[in-house]
Parts: sequence; C-alpha cells; structure tokens
Amino acid sequence: MSEPSPSTEPSPSTEPDLPAVVPADFDAAALAFLERPLTKLLGTRAAAPLAKMGLETAGDLLRHYPRRYAEPGTLTDISELATGEHVTVMAKISSATIRHMRSRAGAMLQAKVSDGVDSLSLTFFAKRQGVLRMHEDKLRPGRVGLFTGTVSDYRGERQLAHPDYVIVGLDADDEDEAIAAAAKPIPMYPATAQVPTWRIERCVATVLGQMHEHDVIDPIPASVRAAHRLDSLFDSLRRIHQPDTDDDWRRARRRFRFEEAFIVQSALVRRKAEHAQLDATARPKRPGGDGLLARFDSALPFDLTRGQVQVGHEISDDISSTHPMQRLLQGDVGSGKTVVALRAMLQVVDAGGQAALLAPTEVLAAQHARSIENLLGDLALGGMLGGAAHATRVVLLTGSMTTAQKRKALLDAASGGAGIVVGTHALLSEHVQFADLGLVVVDEQHRFGVKQRDALRSKGNTVPHLLVMTATPIPRTVAMTVFGDLEVSTLKELPAGRAAVATHIVPAQNSAWMNRTWARAREEIDKGRRVYVVCPRISPGVSEEEDALEDARPEAPAERELTSVEELSAYLRTLPVFHGVTIGVLHGRMTPADKDATMSAFASGAIDLLVSTTVIEVGVDVPAASVMVVMDADRFGISQLHQLRGRIGRGNLPGVCLLVAPIPEEPSDALVRLEALARTTDGFELAATDLELRREGDVLGAAQSGRGSTLRLLRVMQDGDLIAMAREDAERIIEADPTLANHADLRTAIDSYLDEDTQEFLERT
Ligand code: ADP
Ligand code: MG
Repeated sequence: MSEPSPSTEPSPSTEPDLPAVVPADFDAAALAFLERPLTKLLGTRAAAPLAKMGLETAGDLLRHYPRRYAEPGTLTDISELATGEHVTVMAKISSATIRHMRSRAGAMLQAKVSDGVDSLSLTFFAKRQGVLRMHEDKLRPGRVGLFTGTVSDYRGERQLAHPDYVIVGLDADDEDEAIAAAAKPIPMYPATAQVPTWRIERCVATVLGQMHEHDVIDPIPASVRAAHRLDSLFDSLRRIHQPDTDDDWRRARRRFRFEEAFIVQSALVRRKAEHAQLDATARPKRPGGDGLLARFDSALPFDLTRGQVQVGHEISDDISSTHPMQRLLQGDVGSGKTVVALRAMLQVVDAGGQAALLAPTEVLAAQHARSIENLLGDLALGGMLGGAAHATRVVLLTGSMTTAQKRKALLDAASGGAGIVVGTHALLSEHVQFADLGLVVVDEQHRFGVKQRDALRSKGNTVPHLLVMTATPIPRTVAMTVFGDLEVSTLKELPAGRAAVATHIVPAQNSAWMNRTWARAREEIDKGRRVYVVCPRISPGVSEEEDALEDARPEAPAERELTSVEELSAYLRTLPVFHGVTIGVLHGRMTPADKDATMSAFASGAIDLLVSTTVIEVGVDVPAASVMVVMDADRFGISQLHQLRGRIGRGNLPGVCLLVAPIPEEPSDALVRLEALARTTDGFELAATDLELRREGDVLGAAQSGRGSTLRLLRVMQDGDLIAMAREDAERIIEADPTLANHADLRTAIDSYLDEDTQEFLERT
C-alpha cells in the first residue's frame, strides 16, 4: 500500500491529462485507475456506446453494478414475453437449421429455443452461408444461451430476429472451465438495446483485468472494514461483477451499501461539524420573571406537554450557545410545534434579538402572525397603548401587501421595533433588513429550498440560529440520511384533551352513502361546527396546476373526471340538505387577500362549509372545524391526506373524516392507503406504510434518482442498521479528525464520489 498523502497536497486526481500509464512510484496511481477514461482501457470503439450510457471512466463502469444475477440453471418463462418488448431470455437451444430461400438470394438460419414448455424461434438472414455456419456452430442443441432482441410475431409464433446472444460457458478454454463457468451466477446489468448486458460484462472483464490491488485505494478505513467484516474495495469490485457464488455478490453488495452509507454520513457529519464552528450570538434565557418568555409561560392557558417542555430545553440550550443551532423539530400534525417555536423566538427577543418565521404560503403566514399575536396578547403591543412593559411587535410581510403596509413592516424589521417578523419568501427580498436577526424558524421545511433559507440567514450580523419544523414524520434512519447534519427533536405526543378523529371510506358510487355524508355535515353545522370539503381540482377539466396533487400517484390516470371546487360548490348549494348553510370556496387562484378573508370568515363562522383545494393542507387552524370530506381521496397520497385530516379535531370536538373514492374491484395501492388512514391516526405508522408503498427514489426526492447519484444500492428503509453503523463510524472518525487530515482517502472520496446532484441534495437539508 502507498503512504497516505500529506493533507496539504492537492489531490492529484484533479490534475488534467494524467498519463494513461502511471509510474509505479506515483502516489496517485490508485485514484487515477478508477478515473482513467474507458477509451484508454477498452479502445475508442468499445467505449463509445458506453459513453452514451454515461459511463466514461473505469470507475463509472465498475460502479455500474449488476441489477440482478441470473441462476445459470433457471430458464426464462417464454410464455410471459410480450410482442414488441425488448427482452433478454435465457433458454436452451433445441434445434438450428439453415435453409435456402427461393424468393431471394441468400439463406436463413432458424433456431428454436425452449424453456422446457414454450418455445421461441430465432432467425438470422445472410447473403453468404459462412456467416450462418458460424451461428450454427455456436447454437448447438442442448446448449443454454442468453438471447437479446425485440419480440415479434411471425405467423402466430413469437420470434427474435437477429438476436444478440452469448452461449453460457462457451468462452472458457477447456471443458472443466466451461462447466465451472456455467455454474456461476450471471450478472445482469442495466442495459440498453445498443449495449446488451453481456457486452457490459465483457467490457467489465477487460477493465478488471487491468486493475491491480495497489491501484485501488479504499475509502473505508481498514479498521472500520475489519470491525464490520467488510471486504476490500478491490475484492468487492471483482465479486460484484464476477461472482463465483451467490455469497460472493451478496457480500460485495453489503460492502457497497455500507460504503454509500458511510460516505454520505461522513459528508453530513463533517458538514455539521463545520457549521458548529461558525460564530453565532448567544441568546440566553433572561433571568427573573419579567421577560417576555416568562410572562408568556405564566399566561399560557394550557400546560405544555412533556415533549414540548423537553424540546424547549434543548432549543433553549442551543440558542444560548455562541455557535449556531441547527435543529429539526418534527412532530405530527397538531402536536404543538408553533408554541415551541414561539417560546424560542421570545427567548431571542428577550436577549435583544429578532426572530423571523418563514411560512410556505401567504394564508399560512397570515394565520401564523394572527395566532402568534393572539397567543401573545398584550405582550405583542409593543410601543402601543395597552402594551405590556418590554412588549414586542409581530409584523407580517407578504408579497401581496400594499406598498404602504410593506414600507411600515420593512421599517419595523430594520429598526428592531418588530421582534417577530412573519412572512413568506417575500422576507428573502434584498429590501428586507433586520436590526439583529437571531433566529430563523422555517415552518414545513419541505417546501423551502436551501437557497431561500440561506438568503434569510445571511441577513444576520452573525449566523442566526436555525429551527426547521416539519410535520412529516420521518423514520429515524431516513432522517439520518436526509437531515443528517441537523440535530433532531421529536414531539411524540399530542396535547391532552385532543379529540379523536374517526376516518371512514365512502364509496363514491353509492348515492345513499353520499347523501348520508352530506346529512352528517349538516348535523355538525347545526351544532355550530364547521365543515371542510376538499377537491383535487379548481375548475372542471382544468389540470391541477396550483392545486397540485403533489404526492398523488400516476398509477391511476385520470380516466374519470375529477371533482372540482367550482362544480361541487355549485352542486352543494342546490341540495335541500344545505338550505340556509353558507358555503364558501377557497383555492390557489384567488388573490391572497380573498383567501385570507375567506379563511377569517370560516374561522368566525360566517362561512359554515368550505369547499377548497389542498391550500388548507398545511397548518391552517380552525378549532371549530369537525368534519372533513375529501373527494377523489384515492388521488391523494397518504401524507397529504394525513396533513389534511390534521385540520380537524383541533379543538376538543371529536372529528370525522370521510374519504370519498370509487372502490375498485381489484385490490389497489390507493385502497391500501385509504385503509391505512382509516385504521390509524399515528403519523409514524402512516409514514412507514407510505414508504413501503413507494419506491426508494421517491423517499429521498428527485435528486436521488438522478444519474450518478451516490445511492446506487443503499435502501434507506431496509438498510437502517447499516446506516446507523456507518453513522457511528463517521462520528467517531470525524470527532477525532475533524478535517479528515489523517483520512485523505475518505476525504477524497467524499469530494469526488458525491457528484453535484448529491451535493445539491445534501444542501437541501
Ligand atoms: P402543529 O404542530 O401542527 O403546528 P400547532 O402548533 O398548530 O400544531 O398546535 C395545534 C393546536 O394545539 C393549537 O391550537 C395550539 O394552540 C394548541 N396547543 C399547543 N400546545 C398545546 C398544549 N400543550 N395543550 C393544549 N393545546 C395546545
Ligand atoms: Mg404548524
């Protein structure tokens, strides 16, 4: 092995135009091998089609892992092949015959292959017989081969014309070797029509043949490998591509999964450590009872839950530090995150700073400002008649405010007169200045990009403390991967006295059930309560632009007309059961002022029944709302329905949530989702069900499915134990060696292995 390179030396891998043959004493030979272009290793002709697949270096190709492995004994079920499909079939040759064709010059070879039950024909045409003889010689009855082509139908018989193929075991030198080769698992690569799987296999073999052990530096330190019984990178690359047994590739996969987890965790832990070094202004709790926080606490009409108290301590400690807080607060819908955030904001204001609360929509920003003012009472009347001593002011800043309103809000923020500034992305505009921004709270983070958050953070004199709140419960190891550079606090319990919400599925086809649904809504309204009716669309036929069904599944294309706010509200107004009931509408195409007015009317009871799109999904708080009817509920995702349902049962009134959907005859994912919602209101259980139904890529977001993504084999749900292990190792290593000065290989791996996509993905956290 080579000596570790001194940390100050620039990585030689970044130097352009490395010679193809690197002198043996050159320290960077190892990295150079995996970065060496395939044109050098395979020749330009063989490399060209691989380049089209995005595989340009030895590393690209060797990290293009087989998707699965075919058992040499197992033949493909030919009856399952569909005409027009591009397939790779493993089958046994039963016959091969050359025929001359009368109608045109040349000859044809027809072979039959079989899976033991069904057969498939292979046809080859050629002008000269020699070519066909060559095929005939390979395609001997009894041999097993892999055949790739597009299935066509010729006189009722399925065939592959001019398939690409390899005969299993034929490339070996002698018979023993042929038998051994025929018993090995066959790697099946993600392939294209131009580059079939065995062509990749051959290119891989050529590249592996030129790879030497000393060329391959392992980013996983030997001590970590030894502790977890993981094979070296060199061995694992061989085993994943050229396994002798199933055990070989399984071990190799485990190693690569760990490697991915380890590199991602190292990157996150390092980032977290770097952040922790930055300077922030300490905002310790004000001693004595006259601070805003102390007076807020003593006036609070309810007791904080144990979780709220505990998380409150964690946050309070964090913001008392001279390094910036980096904390994610996750808590199910209705768990009381706002109060927790407000208490942190008051601590900062007490210490002479300001706090900004960033909300994803204008409706939500306005509502936050209003509810914070309500919670604060006379503590929010700073500088006004009736204001308490040391009172502060809450200002709202959104894009749709009038110029005069905005100017006043901007002045309050810049002068420090407003301790708490609530707003949407308008807060990010360069006109917005703060006297001393000490804390940034981001509500429902998944709707905010990192650039936006950073823009706000740069408005502090020192780096402001950061609190990110999310209502989407995230399983622990997923959180470790997605939010690995934030500390995580979780509110597990809901405040006491919260009434239960019962959820039922209503078959849309059944008019008796629908009538009962509306009658039920009327009964609640007669008791002075409020009803939400949620639709997937604003107008008939208009695609969901603003009211996007963000996590709805494409599995059920809109064969049926989806319910729209406009149509349904008009229809409900004609129903005798709603005689005397005030019906309002709310959707994303209304002006912010109209939306706000409608929400206020609904909150006050001037509107009894609100037909809306999912604009009410996030955070809207109307305690008197007790019924929610969701139309076309099968078109929404689990977490979205859970968020929606969180809008009811917020006071102490028992809630009813009715999910209206056509009930399919066949079992469907949509029905599984709705049944899960009917079964439980536990957000964590629902998140787990949701993740089971989703593909991995959806879990981590689009950045993860991009080409060249770091996570090729790692599955954040199933590989939780590997992720937790990798996290511990990364923490131990970085604690002892924060700049990775003694782990140059790992450092280089983090920097080069994480491509831009992934960097961006990490930065979203
Ligand atoms: P979320 O976590 O969904 O943002 P909120 O902060 O909006 O939840 O809280 C939901 C409701 O519960 C609000 O009306 C809030 O005032 C109330 N609430 C918060 N904490 C408590 C508590 N400890 N006891 C009773 N009610 C509470
Ligand atoms: Mg909230």
